Amino acid sequence: RAKEMGRDTFCFYDANMNARAAPRLRLELALRRAIERQELHLVYQPKVDLLTGEVIGCEALCRWHHAELGLVPPAEFIPVAEDSGLILRIGRWVLETACAQMRAWIDAGITCPRMAVNVAPLQFLRDDLVAEVSALLSRHRLDAGVLMLEITESTLMRDPGRAVAVMKGLKAIGVRLAIDDFGTGYSSLSALKHFPIDYLKIDRAFISDLTTNASDAAIAVSIIALARSLNLRVIAEGVESEGQLLYLRGRGCDEMQGYHFSPPIAPEAFADMLSGGRGLALPVQKDLPART
Ligand code: C2E
Ligand code: MG
Ligand code: MG
Ligand code: MG
Repeated sequence: RAKEMGRDTFCFYDANMNARAAPRLRLELALRRAIERQELHLVYQPKVDLLTGEVIGCEALCRWHHAELGLVPPAEFIPVAEDSGLILRIGRWVLETACAQMRAWIDAGITCPRMAVNVAPLQFLRDDLVAEVSALLSRHRLDAGVLMLEITESTLMRDPGRAVAVMKGLKAIGVRLAIDDFGTGYSSLSALKHFPIDYLKIDRAFISDLTTNASDAAIAVSIIALARSLNLRVIAEGVESEGQLLYLRGRGCDEMQGYHFSPPIAPEAFADMLSGGRGLALPVQKDLPART
């Protein structure tokens, strides 16, 4: 247990410091220990093809189960990880674990066509991501096409030149790219054409009230149209009802993720779902727009 008795342990249990430390700093110290103690794990949310209803991949999402705090949501610890730089270690661990999982599924004869991993701005924009991903893929003997990295508009806007360079590097080795939470950031639409991306992912903010809020519906439809005209695929996140699903499918959205099909689940449960061939029993819908 020598590993647990490092410098961080001292800091964490220093009562004096604890009393003064902001909750955020305490969270940072706890997170630092969490990495060493392996309190992090991944869950996987299925992605479903809206035409066939088939599960065509998943998104890996990070979970932190702290002994006293319980399950700390990513919305709380990811920002702390980003500010402290810990996101680099976490991000590396997430990529490693997701690729190892993919290899384990393949070895078990389970087909998951694609694995999506979230990458934070700091992790994406630094020098060695392309080399790291490339080494990772060969170490786990994975085809680069199975890996998709999800980045947000803030990554693109922080350093557009650098972002394009990294994207080109990743495209060159065959990794796919998605813009996550699309529509919530401030990226200019004209800049989009310079980014070698494959997917736009419509933010959940526009999906939740899709069927009752005309503005949200208009935004979702515009994003689908934009993706189509730029020859990108488009995926909706946070789909919770059949009404939303039918609306999106009727307007040419390609894929979806959401509680309506499945929340993020443990790898065993996801493997069961894949080997059981479970897909979405899609209601019949006429006059679907033609696909290009
Ligand atoms: P995200 O990448 O946009 O992930 C989608 C979030 O929506 C996930 O929250 C997922 O659990 C949730 N979700 C999926 N379907 C539904 C639905 O139908 N309804 C509702 N209400 N929520 C749904 P989660 O897992 O809490 O993650 C939140 C965010 O934290 C992620 O947003 C991502 O930005 C970040 N994150 C999570 N894991 C990682 C990671 O490994 N690395 C990095 N850099 N960021 C991560
Ligand atoms: Mg994501
Ligand atoms: Mg998202
Ligand atoms: Mg989101």
